[in-house]
Amino acid sequence: MLTLNTFIPVYHGLTMSLYCGTACRRKPLWCYRLLSTYITKTRYLFELKEDDDACKKAQQTGAFYLFHNLAPLLQKSEHQYLLPQYSLVELEKLLGKLGQDTQRVEDSVLIGGSEQHEAWFALDLGLNDSSSMSASLQKPEVEAELKGSFTEFRKALFRLNVKDASLLSTAQALLRWHDAHRFCSRSGQPTKKNVAGSKRVCPSSKIIYYPQMAPVVITLVSDGTRCLLVRQSSFPKGMYSALAGFCDIGLS
Ligand SMILES: [Zn+2]
Repeated sequence: MLTLNTFIPVYHGLTMSLYCGTACRRKPLWCYRLLSTYITKTRYLFELKEDDDACKKAQQTGAFYLFHNLAPLLQKSEHQYLLPQYSLVELEKLLGKLGQDTQRVEDSVLIGGSEQHEAWFALDLGLNDSSSMSASLQKPEVEAELKGSFTEFRKALFRLNVKDASLLSTAQALLRWHDAHRFCSRSGQPTKKNVAGSKRVCPSSKIIYYPQMAPVVITLVSDGTRCLLVRQSSFPKGMYSALAGFCDIGLS
């Protein structure tokens, strides 16, 4: 799941370029505006990744999505599931109510932003980064407070629209990467993330670690009218998948 998600920003960029390549011939002004908005947003997000102070400032007006041990928080309304977002003020109020230090916000990672430059962050309340001294929060306690449920990731993907599911994928991949890279592989010392969470640095050996991308292949076997799908017993009812897999060096 990690590899697929980390490809999404690259893929979106490519799609946008190809799309504009054909659309520009008919509607140049509209198209240039679309492209310009995309580039402006990308530049803004890049700035937040590089500038800790700018990113902290963006948290003040940003929106936070919550996870617990990599399971996203969903709320059920009458006929659908929603992906709730919280402002910094709401999040700090919640942490205070649950007996947590507001320093916990430092564990959040930047996952994207709107075209109006509202930055989006993800925070896992069940995992503990080395920067936080607070204990992990118990899931039922948070769920009761927020009137939602931390839902298994795959199930959550099928309950949300494509836009939210894509955002969740990016968030979960990045949170997972941080959880797995808390220590330097050379010195064994704790690494420290930057504010945006776009990298981790080992203060001892000065090594910078960046979230990795790995190629993944998915195939759909079809005879033209039918296709071959598979499912695991752990899948939710009605969920099937095409055949997919990783190919790592040393793996055969
Ligand atoms: Zn090190």
